[in-house]
Amino acid sequence: MALEQVTTAEGERVYVDRARFERGAEGPFHVVFNDEGASDRWGFHCGSCDSLDTAMDTMGRIQCNDCGNIRKPDEWDAANE
Ligand SMILES: [Zn+2]
Repeated sequence: MALEQVTTAEGERVYVDRARFERGAEGPFHVVFNDEGASDRWGFHCGSCDSLDTAMDTMGRIQCNDCGNIRKPDEWDAANE
């Protein structure tokens, strides 16, 4: 397993798994973990603009606050085929 270590704007060390992602309108959202073992999910990394400033709402929608890349919840099934 090769996770990419990155540091957030808050100075937090997190790990990006580029092999795991949700497909967004502008690019992939890579899954980010708190730990190297990928057991504790932190959030998402925007593959379109290389930002960690993303938000997921309760409906499962993921949005990048920097470039506006978005994954709509109704695309969940298609993106996971
Ligand atoms: Zn972005």
